[in-house]
Amino acid sequence: METKYIFVTGGVVSSLGKGIISASLARLLLSRGYKVTIQKYDPYINIDPGTLNPYEHGECYVTVDGHEADLDLGHYERFTNTETTRANNITTGRIYQNVIDKERRGDYLGKTVQIIPHITDEIKRNMLLLGNKNEYDFVITEIGGTVGDIESLPFLESVRQLRWELGKRCVCIHLTYVPYIAAAKELKTKPTQHSVKKLQEVGIQPDILVLRTEHEISASMCRKVALFCNVDPSAVIQSIDVPSIYEVPLTMHKQRLDQIVLEKVGLPSDGEPDLTQWNDFLHRMKNATETVHIGLVGKYVELPDAYKSINESLLQAATYNDRKLDLHYIHSEKLNDSNVAEMLKGLDGIIVAPGFGQRGIEGKFSALKYAREHDIPTFGICLGMQCMVIEFARNVLGYEDANSTEMDVKAKYNVIDLMESQKSISNMGGTMRLGAYDCILKEGSIPAKAYGKTHIRERHRHRFEFNSDYREAFERAGMICVGENPETHLVEVIEIPKLRWYVGTQYHPEYNSTVLRPNPLFVDFIRAAINK
Ligand code: GLN
Repeated sequence: METKYIFVTGGVVSSLGKGIISASLARLLLSRGYKVTIQKYDPYINIDPGTLNPYEHGECYVTVDGHEADLDLGHYERFTNTETTRANNITTGRIYQNVIDKERRGDYLGKTVQIIPHITDEIKRNMLLLGNKNEYDFVITEIGGTVGDIESLPFLESVRQLRWELGKRCVCIHLTYVPYIAAAKELKTKPTQHSVKKLQEVGIQPDILVLRTEHEISASMCRKVALFCNVDPSAVIQSIDVPSIYEVPLTMHKQRLDQIVLEKVGLPSDGEPDLTQWNDFLHRMKNATETVHIGLVGKYVELPDAYKSINESLLQAATYNDRKLDLHYIHSEKLNDSNVAEMLKGLDGIIVAPGFGQRGIEGKFSALKYAREHDIPTFGICLGMQCMVIEFARNVLGYEDANSTEMDVKAKYNVIDLMESQKSISNMGGTMRLGAYDCILKEGSIPAKAYGKTHIRERHRHRFEFNSDYREAFERAGMICVGENPETHLVEVIEIPKLRWYVGTQYHPEYNSTVLRPNPLFVDFIRAAINK
């Protein structure tokens, strides 16, 4: 089957959930047996979001091939259960970098290099790339930003051209917002009309409109929108707030989003998507009566998007343990030895979050010391694992100024240190240890039992490592290296076997946890928290 291309744009405001709509449509098409991938085009100039502060666009997600990606790729993987790669996330910066490289090589044969056609040609080439491999029946492309932004114009122009070139193999979905004016008790469609006009101005006529709303939109209002926007009344769909993002595929299917897409590209739209497993998950999520209380210790806790994948992994793991998740965000900057007992009171388990830099680090040590001494199930991820190591060095091994050289280059006990291969690197972007690496787990350890095997592959994003010079000292004192890279022998997982569940991973298991395939280590951590 020739690949079909679906473009998803957004208007009125950002943060409407284009990623969730794209992922939900992908879920429905996959459940009908089609092969689907989703890609995200971001209009900013950064080459990738790797150098961005989480306050900008939330978490940085990492693909198996080591691309630092927009957090929407995490949604794509969690909904579709399919891995993405660097080809699934392109920014304006990458497009320009490619074009400028070609110009320097002389590929343009003396021509003046311009936004149209050179930038738009490069965008189009990339947009079609995943589809050219004959691996996918559908490629869904989400365009970041909002229609009307100057920076998204070259992307929209490329969509306009592709739509013309692809004909019936192309569908455009536009997502807008219908605000509710409380004083007038009225929903307003005018912003949607304006947004569609903006899209039409750049030559794109949407086939389907998805209206994001907090209140039910009446059929007559949908017809009005259809009339003003040149869209089939049946192709005006509302996306009303639901308790969980994982219900969105169902609300979209109820309004025939998948059927409408199939009809538009000329494919049979009868039959039903097989959502048995998906519905099982939702059923467990809704029917759980007991709650597991988890504390997440981190410095970005005022912005839950900074820990998106951890939040979702915990929710999935709680669901598969038939528990509701009650997640407490604990600001590590506000945590110290004197308030830690109070701040961690009533928690069944603690996660110490990944991160960079000194800010909030001492609070993480306080949390870890308390959790270790009181045997609370504790999970350290990346910086969280490094903090476990430092806290143990200071308080058990008696290495008073133990630290990571990230925080103190002169630390006498540099138990976490820069890898030799990192020492000469000065560029910040894309230079960490990134992507999936093999790891061999120690037979009988908590992780080995949780995964049910000893050879795993998980994704990394860090510069610093456990300093193996100290390995023996740690092991003698009871902190054991239970996961190791088979080639470099770098320590990937530590555990204190004497405790109920005290495990730290240098890798990020949260990037590898989906609705249909929750990460075993998260599931086991929640199980331990419940059993406590
Ligand atoms: N800052 C630490 C490092 O670079 C940990 C990174 C992380 O938590 N992702 O090694």
